[in-house]
Amino acid sequence: MFSWSNAKGIPYLQSSGLAACGFLEHAFCARKGGVSEDDYQSLNMSFREGDEEFRVLQNWNKLAAAFGIPVENFLVLNQVHRDGILVIPSRGEYFTSREDLNYDAIVTDRVHLAICIKTADCVPVFLADPENQVIAAVHAGWRGTAAGITAKVVRLMQNQYGSRPVDLLAAIGPSIGRCCYEVDAPAADAFRLHPDAKNFLFPSKRKDRWMLDLVQANRGQLIDCGIPDASIDASGLCTVCREDDFFSHRGSGGVTGRQINFLMLKGDPICKALLLNDDLCHIH
Ligand SMILES: [Zn+2]
Repeated sequence: MFSWSNAKGIPYLQSSGLAACGFLEHAFCARKGGVSEDDYQSLNMSFREGDEEFRVLQNWNKLAAAFGIPVENFLVLNQVHRDGILVIPSRGEYFTSREDLNYDAIVTDRVHLAICIKTADCVPVFLADPENQVIAAVHAGWRGTAAGITAKVVRLMQNQYGSRPVDLLAAIGPSIGRCCYEVDAPAADAFRLHPDAKNFLFPSKRKDRWMLDLVQANRGQLIDCGIPDASIDASGLCTVCREDDFFSHRGSGGVTGRQINFLMLKGDPICKALLLNDDLCHIH
């Protein structure tokens, strides 16, 4: 179950399963509580969508202050709609260039590193392994979902960290719902041959269009990996239907901001993350 909370004026959603884990901090933020204006109103966390840089910077500082996490401890990927997974080791300084962050998922056992997924319709998927204290954050649009990125993350956690799917907790945040996600042939074709396509690909009222349920497709990947259905929590909120609360690429017609979703292992920082990327190089 998801429920709303508020941190110093910033509303956010939490999954009850993840919230019950004392070693985690997480939030699926909405679009409210920031200083951006017009199409980006108000908590736009992306420097890449045409918003004024000083406002996005202020939004990042507000988020960091609200959750008591230093702004340099947030890691934001480039999110390139592929299936690459970035693994951040538990200790040791690391440095990444912008190009080095061309990934759509992060897995880590490093404490005090808030791994982020920016969204405006795509699906943010969080995973936590309470036994091994490993977390993952996934950006799953239709291309990543078709490439099986969520299943690949679970397999990586199994292979590199010894995670057992039966122990994993998953939370699927707000995204475009099957109510609103009409796709054309290229997207539908990417799923049509999947053995469970009937569970998440449906005919649309319009000719040569289909309704795609990305949440269900990603839930299916988690279940196929062996994660119990009861351990998978989904918000049930559609970003298009709830454009008052969330940025929606489809709902806005294209010009809009990005909300941030983050997941972090609590604990003392071992060392400061040295990061440089399009979204945070303005800060560091
Ligand atoms: Zn909808």
